[in-house]
Amino acid sequence: MVDQEKFNERINDLVDEAEDKPVRRAKKEKPSLKESVYSLQPKQLEEWLKENGEKPFRAAQIFDWLYNKRVKTFEEMSNLSKGLREKLEASFSLTTLSTIIKQESKDGTIKFLFQLQDGYSIETVLMRHEYGNSVCVTTQVGCRIGCTFCASTLGGLKRHLLAGEIVEQVVKVQQTLDEVGERVSHIVIMGIGEPFDNYDAMMNFLKVINHEKGLNIGARHITVSTSGIVPKIYQFADEQLQINFAVSLHAPNQEDRQKLMPIARAYKLDELMEAVQYYTKKTGRRVTFEYGLMSGENDSVEIAEELSALIKGIKCHVNLIPVNYVPERDYVRTSRSQIFAFEKTLKKNGINVTIRREQGADIAAACGQLRAQERSEETR
Ligand code: SAH
Repeated sequence: MVDQEKFNERINDLVDEAEDKPVRRAKKEKPSLKESVYSLQPKQLEEWLKENGEKPFRAAQIFDWLYNKRVKTFEEMSNLSKGLREKLEASFSLTTLSTIIKQESKDGTIKFLFQLQDGYSIETVLMRHEYGNSVCVTTQVGCRIGCTFCASTLGGLKRHLLAGEIVEQVVKVQQTLDEVGERVSHIVIMGIGEPFDNYDAMMNFLKVINHEKGLNIGARHITVSTSGIVPKIYQFADEQLQINFAVSLHAPNQEDRQKLMPIARAYKLDELMEAVQYYTKKTGRRVTFEYGLMSGENDSVEIAEELSALIKGIKCHVNLIPVNYVPERDYVRTSRSQIFAFEKTLKKNGINVTIRREQGADIAAACGQLRAQERSEETR
């Protein structure tokens, strides 16, 4: 099943797909790339075992080593035969991310900069909450959505991540938490990239981390956020998952929204709202609207009224995000008093609303501040 040639081709295709320039490899010679073992569902691993003359029950043992014992080498999988360990070693990679930087904020937030096998780098953030430890994962190297207030999109999209590269981010963070005896309890798919622009990899990632033999993180502890790729919202609704779903709205009318988010030209606000209604009806679950407050742009009381009218009757919750500073962008965060005035207006209109608490601002780990691209230029 794992064909080395094909896998190399796949990685190269992903790179070719990326917009402007070919990847400058970390090593001069072409690295010998192997499929990450973290991409595999238990069923796929069973298949591979059968194809390789091994017993399928070994899959459960291997999953136990990967996700419960969290070993760092195949060598450590001591209840497997030496032969099987060697086959695994020859076919898969156990480490495709290397930690370049691990930076801790005053509030306990940790930002990780990981280098991928082809030299690009990505960021992952661990946030500590009263209710648990949450990991914010990246789904793409860069982003092509182009939101005008976000740092992740500054260098465009370089490539999609593979499912295993997304899973491994969580495993790496869990290995850090192992040192203090804690667990990753929540996942937010809100790092660099647009998860619905890399839909299949995102779904495979979800299946592995949600699997009882995988990291076993409950669907209700996982949140995915999209900028509004309408066809994928329908597809996601039809999956009927218990995963929390968020939509980045940021403006209650087409004109303002497309100024802030160019994606709104491709998928109009009314189409987006229709898709969201479809989701809430199909799943019976509520949607979260993320709304970044930018001074003088989208934060007046009149706009709060307009927003209330737009979402009235939809099973939803609004998460107000005081916009974070991004040096290349000239948006100014809404003042505290105006944030409260905006919140009050929504409340008065019967809308569920919260204000997002900011974490990791001192290490540029807060929403919209992740910028793998620039970092990756510097580190190469
Ligand atoms: N691409 C997905 C998920 C990534 S970002 C999406 O757009 O939903 C997670 C949230 O951070 C999104 O709501 C995004 O709009 C918001 N965000 C981006 N830049 C920000 C900034 N500078 N300040 C605050 N929030 C920001």
